Amino acid sequence: MLPHIGEDVDDTGSRSTRLRALPQVQRLLEHSRAHVLITTYSREEVVAALRGALDAVREGLLSDETATTPDEDGLLAQAEARLARAAKPVLRRVINATGVVLHTNLGRAPMPAAALEAVVQAGRGYSNLEFDLATGQRGSRTQGVEPLIRELTGAEAGLAVNNAAAAVLLALSALAGGGEVIVSRGELVEIGGGFRIPDVIRQGGARLVEVGTTNRTRLADYAAAITPETRVLLKVHQSNYRVVGFTAEASLEELSGLARARGLMLMHDLGGGALTDLRGLGRPYEPTVRDSLDAGADLVAFSGDKLMGGPQAGLLAGRRAALDPLRRHPLLRAVRLDKMALAALEATLKLYRDPARAAASIPVLAMLAQTPDQLQARAERLAAALAGEVEARVEPSTAYAGGGALPGEAMQSVSVRLEGPKPEPLAARLRASVPAVVGRIADGALTLDMLTVADEELDILAEALIAALVE
Ligand SMILES: *Cc1c(COP(=O)(O)O)cnc(C)c1O
Repeated sequence: MLPHIGEDVDDTGSRSTRLRALPQVQRLLEHSRAHVLITTYSREEVVAALRGALDAVREGLLSDETATTPDEDGLLAQAEARLARAAKPVLRRVINATGVVLHTNLGRAPMPAAALEAVVQAGRGYSNLEFDLATGQRGSRTQGVEPLIRELTGAEAGLAVNNAAAAVLLALSALAGGGEVIVSRGELVEIGGGFRIPDVIRQGGARLVEVGTTNRTRLADYAAAITPETRVLLKVHQSNYRVVGFTAEASLEELSGLARARGLMLMHDLGGGALTDLRGLGRPYEPTVRDSLDAGADLVAFSGDKLMGGPQAGLLAGRRAALDPLRRHPLLRAVRLDKMALAALEATLKLYRDPARAAASIPVLAMLAQTPDQLQARAERLAAALAGEVEARVEPSTAYAGGGALPGEAMQSVSVRLEGPKPEPLAARLRASVPAVVGRIADGALTLDMLTVADEELDILAEALIAALVE
C-alpha cells in the first residue's frame, strides 16, 4: 500500500520533505496567475483544478522516488492545462484524412452550407415545426420534407424519421407486427453498431421467415414460404458486403409481381439511398431510391446521412397504402426527427432539385466526384507545406465511400505519407490536437488520404502536423 500524506515514511526522509513543500490551495489562489484564471473560469473550477494538480503531484511523489516538487508556477500551469482540457467540447471537429467518405465513427456526411444555415435559423428562435401557418391550426412536423421526397423519388408518399434503422423498425412494426416477414438468408445483415436485420424484425413484433441459402435465393423460395400470416417481403441492400461466385437472388421486379399477386407489401431497406445516379460523378452504378420504386417496391427506407449527404435521418418513400399505417403507429412519436435535423433535411433535399447544384454543393457528392488530378494537386500542396519539417511522400492510395455505400468499391486516391516519425505516437498527438486529425497507419507510417480532406482544411492540417511532429 502506498503511504499516505502525513504518515512517517522512514526510507524517504527527502520524500516527505518534498511532500511537505507542496503549497496549500489557499496559497496558490493568491498567485497572480490564479487571479487571471478566475477571470476566465469560476473560482470553484479553479479550486478544483488546483486540487487536481496537487493530487496528481502528490501521487507522483509517492510512487516515484526521483520525482521533484514543482514550484508554484508549475502547479498553476498544470491547473491551467486541466481547466483548458475540461473546457474543450468532447464532441469536436475532426479533419478526416482516412479516405473513408461516410465514416460512421467520424459523423458520416459533412453537411451542405445551405443545411447549416437552415439549422441555425431553426434553432435560434421559434418555428412552425408543428404549426400550419396557412390555417393557424396544428400542422405536420414533416410538412416541409414530404413533398420533396415525393418530387425527388416519384413516390406517392414520403415520411422522415430519426434514422434509417428507426425507419425500418417503424415500417416492420406497423406493417408486419404480429405477422411474418420473409427475408433471404443472403440478406440477413448486420449493418454495424449491432443493427441486425433479424433483431429489428423481432423488435418490430414480427416473425422472421428465412428463405434460400447464403449464396442463392430464388423467387420460388419466397413463394413457397408464404402463409396466411405473411405480411411483408423484405429485401435488404447488401450495404457493407458482397456475395460473389455462385449466386442468385430474386430481383425487386420479380418480388413485386409475387407481392402483388399474394396481397403482400414489398419493402426495400436500401441503406445508402442515392438520390442521383452516381455514374454522373464518375462512380459505379448504385441503385437510386427511384430505381427501387420503379422496380416495384411498395416502400423504400434509406439514410439521410449516407449517399444523400445530409443530416442524420431515415427517409421513407413509397405507396400511400404502405405509409399510412406508419403515420398512425405509436412508435412514430418515439422516432421523430428534431427541428434542426428537419431543417437541414429540407435544405439538403431542395439542393437535389438541380442535379448539377447538388453535385457541387453537397460535400459527399463533391468528394466522390473529385478527379485524380485534383487529389494529386492537394497532396502536393500539403507535402510542400511540410517541406523541411518531415519527409512527406505523395503516393497513390485507396479510398472508400464507406457507410455501406458502394461496398468493396475501392476508389483511386492520393495520400501524403510521413516517413520517419513513429506512427502511433504521432497519431495520438494528432488526435489530441484542435481540430483533431485522424489519418491511417499503413506499412509503418502515418498516411493522410486527400480524398476526404477539403482544400480549405489544408492550412490547419499542415499546422497540426507540424505541431505534432515537434512535440
Ligand atoms: C446504414 C443502413 C441502415 C441504418 O441506417 P442509419 O441511418 O444508420 O440508421 C439500415 N439498413 C441498411 C441496409 C444500411 O446500409
